Amino acid sequence: MRHTVTLIPGDGIGVETSAAMQRVVAASGAEIEWEIAQAGAACIETYGTPLPEETINSVRRNKVAIKGPCTTPVGTGFRSVNVALRKSLNLYVNLRPVMSIPGAGGRYSDVNLVIVRENTEDLYAGIEFEEGTEKALELIDFIDEQGAGRIAKDSGISIKPISITATKNIVDFAFNYAIKQGRNKVTAVHKANIMKYSDGLFLSVARDVAKDYEDHIDFDDKIVDAFCMNMVMDPSQFDVIVFPNLYGDIASDLAAGLVGGLGLAPGANIGKEYAVFEAVHGSAPDIAGKDLANPTAQILSAAMMLDHIGEREAALRIRSAVLAVYAQGTHLTGDIRVPERKCEPVTCSSFTDALVRQIEAM
Ligand code: NAD
Repeated sequence: MRHTVTLIPGDGIGVETSAAMQRVVAASGAEIEWEIAQAGAACIETYGTPLPEETINSVRRNKVAIKGPCTTPVGTGFRSVNVALRKSLNLYVNLRPVMSIPGAGGRYSDVNLVIVRENTEDLYAGIEFEEGTEKALELIDFIDEQGAGRIAKDSGISIKPISITATKNIVDFAFNYAIKQGRNKVTAVHKANIMKYSDGLFLSVARDVAKDYEDHIDFDDKIVDAFCMNMVMDPSQFDVIVFPNLYGDIASDLAAGLVGGLGLAPGANIGKEYAVFEAVHGSAPDIAGKDLANPTAQILSAAMMLDHIGEREAALRIRSAVLAVYAQGTHLTGDIRVPERKCEPVTCSSFTDALVRQIEAM
């Protein structure tokens, strides 16, 4: 069956990893027609926005998209395209499976966990007040008048909303996902001891939801700082982990680092109607345009996309080929740190050639 999928190459290494991904998907036997849509800084001149309406409409039409990373200016400039896309399509789940890949140089060989990150609120809600503005000063005065606490007048403020509805949705998703995937435990991560009305709410809703599943799936919770230490010492103790937005983002990079790096970590943004698949990593400006990027994360994101549209055999072929190429160890990109390298670091193109050859030989 032929599927039309929106492809947003993004910028930076996204251009290279998206091209590699397209080659691998073509080799896998899945029949995909790519509808190319643009996003990122380069769109501003033509469309007046980094996220054109045409791009959102393409995802709405096709229901499924895969996306490369988009650069977000740090501190100033336009807001994140990624956050805007997730919010406008109500992609409330960020799903990031993390697995050890033998031969990929991870610190552990037994990691098999899934990060389920709330994707629409928390400190990523984009509700911010710039230091020194009238609105920031009014808010500071209002908080003072409420007796809620004193904030220094020269503060910038970011708001952290966490709702019952969004928390229920994400925790429900985590438990349903655990059941469907034959997993055993869900862990909720929070800082409820300090942020009682945001993280505290997240924890109490998670505990309530967990009761509906207690006959099938175990539940526990961890304070985020202890969670980080536990992850670094023994990540095999975790199964499905559900997070508010910010901790989920940080934990994703931490988990990726434990299995060999950002070049290996795939992901998906999922809502009730639409799904946008994308790697955990960003646009990596330090290596962009040099054919040095590891495309594995985006290729594994494509495998998740193929599962999502029912092309399970093609997805399996891609995953098996990835495992085989890493096991052989003769075509590894420069980001992969293995103790005894069998080869000089290869380019993104050369890695992709090896992967395509592997799929064709299967
Ligand atoms: P990054 O993930 O781009 O890079 C961090 C480090 O990891 C860099 O040294 C980079 O070279 C390396 N790296 C990342 N992916 C790699 C790959 N596939 N192969 C080899 N090495 C890889 O994070 P950053 O530098 O903090 O962010 C750069 C830009 O990307 C920022 O503008 C940020 O906002 C954006 N970003 C976008 C997304 C997204 O579009 N979903 C996600 C994260 C960051």
